[in-house]
Amino acid sequence: MRPTKEEALKQYFGYTAFREGQEALIDAQLSGRDVFGVMPTGGGKSICYQLPALLSEGVTLVVSPLISLMKDQVRSLKKAGVAAAYVNSSLTPQQIVLALRNILQYKYKIIYVAPERLLQESFLRVAQQLKIAMLVVDEAHCISQWGQDFRPSYLKIPTFLSYLDRRPVVSAFTATATQTVREDILRLLGLRDPLTVVTGFDRPNLRFEVMRPDNKQSCLLTLVRERKAESGVIYCSTRKEVEKVCELLRDKGYPATRYHAGLEDEERMANQDDFIFDRRRIMVATNAFGMGIDKSNIAYVIHYNMPCSIEAYYQEAGRAGRDGSPAECILLFAPGDVHTAKFLIEHPQENEELTEEERQTLLERDLDRLNRMTGYCRTNRCLRGYLLGYFGQRHPETCGNCGNCSATVTEKNVTTEAQMILSCVGRIKGYLGYPLGETLVIRTLHGSREKRITELGLDRLSTYGVLRHLSRTAIREITDALITGGYLRTDSHDALLLTAKADGVLYRKEAVTAEIREAVKPRQDARSKQEGFGERWQSPEAGSYDLRLYETLRELRTRIAQRENVPVYVVFSNAALKDMAAKAPVTQTQFLEVSGVGNYKAERYGDEFIAEIRRYKELC
Ligand code: ADP
Ligand code: ZN
Repeated sequence: MRPTKEEALKQYFGYTAFREGQEALIDAQLSGRDVFGVMPTGGGKSICYQLPALLSEGVTLVVSPLISLMKDQVRSLKKAGVAAAYVNSSLTPQQIVLALRNILQYKYKIIYVAPERLLQESFLRVAQQLKIAMLVVDEAHCISQWGQDFRPSYLKIPTFLSYLDRRPVVSAFTATATQTVREDILRLLGLRDPLTVVTGFDRPNLRFEVMRPDNKQSCLLTLVRERKAESGVIYCSTRKEVEKVCELLRDKGYPATRYHAGLEDEERMANQDDFIFDRRRIMVATNAFGMGIDKSNIAYVIHYNMPCSIEAYYQEAGRAGRDGSPAECILLFAPGDVHTAKFLIEHPQENEELTEEERQTLLERDLDRLNRMTGYCRTNRCLRGYLLGYFGQRHPETCGNCGNCSATVTEKNVTTEAQMILSCVGRIKGYLGYPLGETLVIRTLHGSREKRITELGLDRLSTYGVLRHLSRTAIREITDALITGGYLRTDSHDALLLTAKADGVLYRKEAVTAEIREAVKPRQDARSKQEGFGERWQSPEAGSYDLRLYETLRELRTRIAQRENVPVYVVFSNAALKDMAAKAPVTQTQFLEVSGVGNYKAERYGDEFIAEIRRYKELC
């Protein structure tokens, strides 16, 4: 007898409850209805189509844009005991012939296929003879030219469908939030009366933070040192920056690797694998890296530079903590980032499919998006709230789990400081004949001896060093408050200019108050290894667990992964190991109760983990 969907969820994936949206989408597909699922990265889209695929008669085709994505999914499915395969250009012609033959013999339940392949004669002929239960379109936004990642070959999907005698159920999934793209997907794919489910975009296990360090390099080194045992991604906005940061980390002995479009394919693939297999725990990359990376044990994503839009930021940051474990998303902001971002927007990659008018519209839209991104970096309000608000989602005033919510914000009278800052801005312009950016203004006020300051003669201004008694961060906070409050504005080169409102402060002694925040160090979680024996930690999905046992189980997992030549998270996710450390099972029945342990994995790995847990308990 066929298992129920709850049984299949446990048996193959090891979970006992569905996440938001999953059940409705699964039911609809099983009843023969098209679906459209919009969920954030890490929200659990794969199970939404993999589970009905397993419970349906016939095979399921999954169209996916990237080879690495297909490989990862197939690897994970195989480990869960599902017969799966992919057909794409990474296979040799002979391998393709073999794969197609196996497909015709129904040896696979789920087949991943590249969109270019759909209309190729040999593939099409096979597809026409198959009983196809479902056609799944993963990363469906690739079909829209308004999406972040337009792939013209996605337009072949409707043609492919029209060549089939029997139209299968068609399911589309994306993490894209914008309305235009969603409408494009529905229209271009020709979904028929689909059940559309848009889940919340919140990822409660992610902690968001924006830092404005004076020195990004030393700040980064501290952050990385505090997270030594964990795997993380550091995003930079340019190739050059990637090179610089990667070298800095390597110089200090960190296992870092890099990824950007300027490297040879071969090196890029090798570096990516090093990261996925945890041979190198830190990936320094441009935004070219990440799509199709399902590595579920990324504990932090640091943005060394501000990205160009909230969409891009949320997608990149969202690669942390996919398995539900607590993870961090930290953005290191400097005013110069705005400049770089603007440059990147104004010099986009060639796209011949666009008309001049479309190009102009896109440019305006992108500059607008950049503004909203900059707003995120400067806001004093809840960061999670800002992100969710951007995606049109209602949210509480505070979340308690972001840098701003855990900082204490006090309303202070900063009239004197404001007068000095405003007058410094005015004097610089008067003296040089042109305005300067925030960083140099702050350094002047702070009395920096830097060459650039003395070269420009800024040390001769009467406001030079007048705020020496404050930290640069404090000066910056007040300056930011003056920008937000409309006393200062930035020109197109990000130089600071006085507004009419500033006159009131400078000449009429109007009072200025500002919300000044003092950062509170986030609570340390399971990452620090120095914790005492048997120490227990809370985590959202796993509850409290034994930290030392968790580390022991992680080591066992690493040994198994090396033996089987798969990434560690394919054996078990961090979340599964945490639950294992919490429940400390010593029998097969207990082992199966661990979240993330399905029948196949219990059979395959149960004995080894149970033996390790027993050994650990005897030592205690
Ligand atoms: P997406 O494709 O939406 O980015 P994934 O399908 O990769 O997300 O799922 C992210 C993680 O969540 C995976 O580790 C997956 O095993 C896990 N997951 C999915 N559904 C559930 C569930 N119902 N219970 C617990 N974990 C789940
Ligand atoms: Zn918050």
